[in-house]
This record gives sequence, structure tokens and C-alpha cells, in this order.
Amino acid sequence: MTDSPPPTSHRLAPDSLVRHWIGGKPFGDQPERVGEVYDPATGAVTKRVAFASASEVDQAVAAAVSAFAEWRHSSLARRSKILFALREIVVDRAGEVANLITEEHGKVLSDALGEVSRAVDVIELACGIPALLKGGYSEEVSTNVDVYSIRQPLGVAAVISPFNFPAMVPAWFFPIAVACGNTVVVKPSEKDPSASVWMAERAAEAGLPEGVLNVVHGDKVAVDRLLEHPGVKAISFVGSTPIARYVYENGTRHGKRVQALGGAKNHMVVLPDADLDLAADAAVSAGFGSAGERCMAISAVVAVEPVADQLVGKISERMAKLKVGDGRRDVDMGPLVTAAHREKVAGYLTAGVAEGARLVVDGRGVELDGSSDGFFLGPSLFDEVTPGMTIYTDEIFGPVLSVVRVESYETALRLVNENPYGNGTAIFTNDGGAARRFQNEVEVGMVGVNVPIPVPVAQYSFGGWKSSLFGDSHAYGEDGVRFFTRGKVVTSRWLDPSHGGVDLGFPQSS
Ligand code: NAD
Repeated sequence: MTDSPPPTSHRLAPDSLVRHWIGGKPFGDQPERVGEVYDPATGAVTKRVAFASASEVDQAVAAAVSAFAEWRHSSLARRSKILFALREIVVDRAGEVANLITEEHGKVLSDALGEVSRAVDVIELACGIPALLKGGYSEEVSTNVDVYSIRQPLGVAAVISPFNFPAMVPAWFFPIAVACGNTVVVKPSEKDPSASVWMAERAAEAGLPEGVLNVVHGDKVAVDRLLEHPGVKAISFVGSTPIARYVYENGTRHGKRVQALGGAKNHMVVLPDADLDLAADAAVSAGFGSAGERCMAISAVVAVEPVADQLVGKISERMAKLKVGDGRRDVDMGPLVTAAHREKVAGYLTAGVAEGARLVVDGRGVELDGSSDGFFLGPSLFDEVTPGMTIYTDEIFGPVLSVVRVESYETALRLVNENPYGNGTAIFTNDGGAARRFQNEVEVGMVGVNVPIPVPVAQYSFGGWKSSLFGDSHAYGEDGVRFFTRGKVVTSRWLDPSHGGVDLGFPQSS
């Protein structure tokens, strides 16, 4: 994406209700249950969000089922034109949705715009659906017989997304799902629900028919109904590993196709020959961007000796320059998403010290450019972390970086491979052979070579290994097209004068 305009203000009234979006319009003025949406930079409740009941989820699915009957027959040209129009609108108005993200999630505005740009990348990929859905054709496989393959939509797909990328993660799935002829129900995180509704409104402006893209808000009640609803054929889930496992097991038990992307613990291996300034820049950027609330954030820096002392020094120097505050101001790092999450992450600082790690930088006393009521925690650095410590084993999902010192490449590799997560990893080195060996031997789905956050571009697919993904398909790219379609192969013979008679034998080529 290029030339995004500067962000414009899109602040809603303090008492406003974030409603569902069903059948092309807002839905549910009088919800039985609501959640509170915070501005993490001020700590204030700024909105309420409707929590869907099972019967409201049923209405969203019914709208999607009904829209599917027509949408599945829409031409590829029409789908592509609508997605292209959506792409234009989102690029033009990226500032609006970035503001919504910062107001509800807390990440700094430039980072929110970056997330929107990644969402646009997948919409752009989906604009090419006529090429992506091309099948194969073999003429004359047998005498006068041709065979061709086609891919058809599944029906209604549900997308259940986490708080940390409220625009990008739904957009990993819905553009490709609708481009393939499916209809969609998105259940975004209840912590920052507005970006999904914003996107559905823009899709309607772009010409997407009513009911093709719906949004229901809520919690476990809504998720459980989507998992069991017979009208839902596929589930794309992204979130923490325990919920991903739950969604995968329950969704597949109800006969659905499920891809469930889970949590992470990403290691960055620094070999002795690496450029340590580059490595320190990368560790700080990838450890503290978005306050560490990224599934591809670097959590553990594995320093292969003798570089650790020097690397820790360089990382600390850079951390001292980071400005923490309200993401709408000129700062590097915003608050955490909720007060409870801030307390949980701060608890790991206490635990790490108690377990014997050396707390080199303590983010608890950080100087702020923002309200003291916000959910702020400055960047923290632990050194001499060992694999038994909870700060190493747990996904902290906050601005806490751990340095683990090891003696060799082999120990570094073993550490990464023994970790139950396998989302992303990176190696920093100037040795091409070492990097090539690492990419071959490491048991992780996405690997960076001197790149700390190796999120694949849209034409490749995003997904981890082990406890970071349940199911066979990664998100977007070719995997996305395969996930949202079923293959069919047609064998055809148009009769000609040479056809002849009954034959009970098994068909053979002739
Ligand atoms: P979460 O698991 O708490 O929530 C994800 C979704 O599940 C939300 O829509 C939420 O409403 C729903 N949910 C929560 N509890 C549920 C329950 N008991 N039953 C059914 N549904 C439930 O995750 P989060 O805190 O919103 O997001 C952070 C997590 O997401 C981290 O673990 C992060 O690593 C992971 N994540 C992974 C990827 C990836 O691509 N692998 C990407 C982004 C985030």
C-alpha cells in the first residue's frame, strides 16, 4: 500500500454501542449482554460492545447462508471488481481505521497504519482471484475424453480473531473467502471490535451484497455457537494456543474444516559472526514493537557466546531511547491492551527475578508521555535466562525480552526445536552456509535470515508449526484459496458417432 493519507479523527461518543453487522446493516440495539471497550492509553471505558446470544449468531449465519445462494454464482470478474473497490476505499481511508485501532488496542498510530497496509496486501491478492482459481485441463486423456479440475466454495466461513491485529487478522481470511464465493461471519475480539465493523461497512460501500460479510461480537457464547452451527462449514481461528486447540477439537468434531492459529514464543538466534548493531536494532524493534503484543514478536534472544555481553549492552542502550506513551503522540511504544494484561505481564518481571534471571532493564518505572491511568509498562530486559524459568516457558505477550546465553549453534538450535511453539524464528549471521543450515534444520513455520519478523507477504502463506497451528492449512496465499474451496474433477466425453454400447468394466484409458 502506498500514499496513505494522514490519520483523521474517528472518535465515537463515549457511551456509544458497537453493534453487530448482519445482512448489510447494524444489528442489535438492545443487547442482553455487553462488554466494555477501553482506551488503553487513558484507562477510560469509551464504548460498550454488544455480546451476541446464540440466537443472534444464528441470525448472522442465516443471513450468510441466504447470501451464499446468489454469491456463489457471482462471476469472478464481479468479485474481483468489488474487492478492488474495497482496496481503493481502505487505502483512501486508512487513517480512520488506524485511529480506531489505536483508540481500542493502544498501539502507536504508525503501527496501526502498518497493520492496515498488511490487510490491504491480502485484499490485493484476492483481487487476483480469476488467476488464483484457475484449474487444470487435460484434453484426450482417453479417446474423446477430457478431464478438468475446478474449485468451488464451501458455504459459510467463520473467522474468529484476536485483539492484537483487529484489522489485519480478519483480513487474512475474509477477502480470500469471499473471493472464492463463500460468505463470512467474523467474530472479532471483544477488546477492540470496531475495526471489523468499519471494514464490513467499507465492503458494503464497495458493492459487496448484503449478508456476504457479517460481524458478530461477543465471547465464548458466540464462538461456541459458531463451532456447532450446522450452517457454518469452515472456521479460521487466531488466538492463544489453549483456545486454538479448543476451537480445532470442537470445530472438527462438528464436521467443519478448521485452521486454528495459536500462540508463540519466538527465538532470535545471534551467531558470533553477526553484525551486532543490526542484531540489537532488530531485537529491540521486534521485541517491543506493539508493546510485544505480536504473535511474531521476538521473545527470546539466543546469544551464541562470546557475543552476549556486547549484545546485552547494545540492546540496553537502544531501549533507553524508547519513548513510551499515548499512541496518538510521537512515541515508540503504547500501552498494553487491558489493565489485567498489564498486571499479568508485570507479574512476570517479579517471577523472573525470583527465578534468578538478571533484570537488566525494569520497565515498571518508565517515564510516560501519557496518562498515568493508562495500561503502560515500559520495555524490560532479562539476561541469563534459562529454559526452566516461567519467563522462558510462557508466552508473555508483552514488552519483555529475555536473553538466553548458549555455547554453540547446536545448543541454540536444540532450544528452538524443543520449544512447544513453532511460529516464527530468526537467525542473525553473516555466514550464508550457517543460515542455510538453520533454515533447513529448524522446526518452525516462518524463518527470518537477518529479518526479525518474517511475516510472509500475501502471495505466500502465514502459519506456524507445533502448538502454533492446529490444522493443515496456513493463512492466505495459495493455502488460503485451498482452505476456502473444495476441489472437483470432471471427466467428460461428448458423444460422437464412434461411441459404442454398454461396458461393465472399470473405466480405463484407451
Ligand atoms: P484469545 O485466545 O484470548 O482470543 C482469541 C479469540 O477467541 C477472541 O475472539 C476471543 O473472544 C475468543 N475467546 C476467548 N476465550 C474464549 C473461550 N474460552 N472460548 C471460546 N472463544 C474464546 O487471544 P487474544 O488474547 O485475543 O490474542 C492473543 C493471542 O493470540 C496470543 O496468544 C497470540 O500469540 C495469538 N496470536 C496468534 C497469531 C498467529 O498467527 N499464530 C496471530 C495473532 C495472535
